[in-house]
Amino acid sequence: MRRLTLSLSLLLIFVLSGCMEENITALDVEIFNATGDSLGVAKVSEDPNGVKVELNLEGLPPGEHGVHIHEAGLCEAPDFKTAGNHFNPDDKEHGLLHPEGAHVGDLPNIIVDEDGTVVAELMAPAATLKEGKTSLFGKDGTAIIISENPDDGMTQPSGESGERIACGVISKEVAEKKEAVEEPVDEAEKE
Ligand code: ZN
Repeated sequence: MRRLTLSLSLLLIFVLSGCMEENITALDVEIFNATGDSLGVAKVSEDPNGVKVELNLEGLPPGEHGVHIHEAGLCEAPDFKTAGNHFNPDDKEHGLLHPEGAHVGDLPNIIVDEDGTVVAELMAPAATLKEGKTSLFGKDGTAIIISENPDDGMTQPSGESGERIACGVISKEVAEKKEAVEEPVDEAEKE
């Protein structure tokens, strides 16, 4: 059964890649913490107002946290430094409140409930999933990172948002894999 599923997946990838390669408008990005546990999914989608990021996560420390899209699609735990700086193709200053801001990857803060869960819808108005300088697929993709502290919206280079505590890769490879493998993600990701 597994082999059949794999074969079907490969077939789907083959069939879909022709028509989808340059035209991915939405993908599910799995978010992992520093010890490698999956915290859930960020749904990333092209929107008339930019790129929408819908977070549905658990297992985070309660309170306010910064969320940013970083310039490299590489999430290496535990510090996630491999994702580089905030995604900033327009060479702006950091911060949604900065007069010369903001980075394309600057997103509003989220507030995690006491039980460690968060459901939030964020918008990156200058980003796109289409081709171009501000595309989140970039050269090698980008990464969504949640930080330990809230972003103050002003201080360079990252709003005093502290350590990086969770990370997920945005890339065409991730998008194509998720499209092709239509498994019930809810069940598969429970421990
Ligand atoms: Zn920034």
